[in-house]
Amino acid sequence: MPYVSTLVSDTPTPRIWSRIKKIAGKRSRTPTPVLTTNDGAIGDAFQAANLLVHHFNADVVVVGGGIIGACAALSLQQAGKNTLLLDQYPPPHHKGSSGGKARITRLANFGPPQLMAMLEDAMARWSHLSTLVQEELVSPAPMLVVGQKTENVEKMARSVEKSGHKPTWLTVAQTNAKYKTRFTEDFTMFEDHSAGVMRADRCLHAVLKLFRECGGGVEGGWKVDAVEAGDGWVSVRGPRGTVTAQHLLLCPGPWASQLLQPLGIHLPLQPLKTKAFLYKNPSFPFACLLDVTSLRSYTYALPAMTPGSVMKIEPGESDGEGDTAFLREKVAKYVSRYLPFGREEREEECWFTESPDKEFILDRHPHHSNIVYAIGFSGTGFKIAPTVGFILACMLTGRDPGFDITPFGADRFSTTRFKSRL
Ligand SMILES: Cc1cc2nc3c(=O)[nH]c(=O)nc-3n(C[C@H](O)[C@H](O)[C@H](O)COP(=O)(O)OP(=O)(O)OC[C@H]3O[C@@H](n4cnc5c(N)ncnc54)[C@H](O)[C@@H]3O)c2cc1C
Repeated sequence: MPYVSTLVSDTPTPRIWSRIKKIAGKRSRTPTPVLTTNDGAIGDAFQAANLLVHHFNADVVVVGGGIIGACAALSLQQAGKNTLLLDQYPPPHHKGSSGGKARITRLANFGPPQLMAMLEDAMARWSHLSTLVQEELVSPAPMLVVGQKTENVEKMARSVEKSGHKPTWLTVAQTNAKYKTRFTEDFTMFEDHSAGVMRADRCLHAVLKLFRECGGGVEGGWKVDAVEAGDGWVSVRGPRGTVTAQHLLLCPGPWASQLLQPLGIHLPLQPLKTKAFLYKNPSFPFACLLDVTSLRSYTYALPAMTPGSVMKIEPGESDGEGDTAFLREKVAKYVSRYLPFGREEREEECWFTESPDKEFILDRHPHHSNIVYAIGFSGTGFKIAPTVGFILACMLTGRDPGFDITPFGADRFSTTRFKSRL
């Protein structure tokens, strides 16, 4: 539970101290910081600051209330750690990577072999979470995989087979009859029945609800702008106060560099803004679509999980700034050529954070093992979040997660430079 600290014994850093004096000075009517309360005047800045700057205590502080941080916070709280989740905006919100109502889940992937066990585990965890909140968070929906390059479609089919599922190959005529599409004879296609649609907003809501129910604390509007660490302790600071804890977990999504670089962790991450477009859907069945013609930028379509029949279509690329005109034109052209969608209803904005190999990064601070970070989840992190959250909780509590996470370490990037400034 939050408490007001005795800052006298906490020796605030010069920066905090100058802020305390500034706040206390602003609120007082005289040049000397004096704060008047119901009980009478309190005469010095230390005591004034006690009432103005909050100080929280926790076993673990998690920065980032997107789906990764929320799942990790839940796992930590379930493991008996008093956990405080901080976010610069009140979670859930739409400003990072976890907003919106729908995501795709599937087992097929082009990641390292170790990823498959994690994806399977994540499906089981989402199903368990659905049971706990008595709500269907993931609905089975076949994924129609299409492409004008047969080798790309075959590569995807092999990945489906590796997951223990059998791709259902379709002819162009069968596909166009079933999905009301207009694919041409140069396309190859199959259905992947391991896929599903996630109710993304309900998933995040459910995880935050369960976290609060088992005693976890959530603070929104709490931007962390400084971190200090020592042997077995960390302290994070922001305009709303200071949190001291034994462990720190950083899940900052597209804001990763702002938090990690001052800690001396420099990783080749690229935050990219992109757009998704929502179209009226009179006839495409409840299913997802993946076009793998270009391995550089897949085109996805999925049920938007909004009232009425609406499909969300994602261009799978970005110029970094989310240039709407360019992305809208690309999507509109694809829809008018191949898909039975109606008019465009609206657009959604989303950030993703790419590492050079498009795989995520789970690691520890090189000099402070009590600081762990999880970043770079690109366009695939939602489905795997409960498993990543469990692994992160194990990393912070000294338990064996039972997964080989070596391929996801930061040391795979030769450009990584660690210069700890803590
Ligand atoms: C268009 C699009 C489609 C996608 N489709 C799929 C899909 O079909 N399937 C799938 O599995 N994945 C998909 N993804 C990827 C998935 O959504 C992301 O990988 C996942 O949401 C990443 O979550 P996160 O918690 O790492 O980041 P975020 O959700 O961005 O959370 C980071 C949080 O940290 C907070 N924060 C940052 N800095 C600070 C600070 N200094 N102080 C306090 N708080 C801070 C932010 O406010 C934010 O809430 C898609 C992504 C996009 C953009």
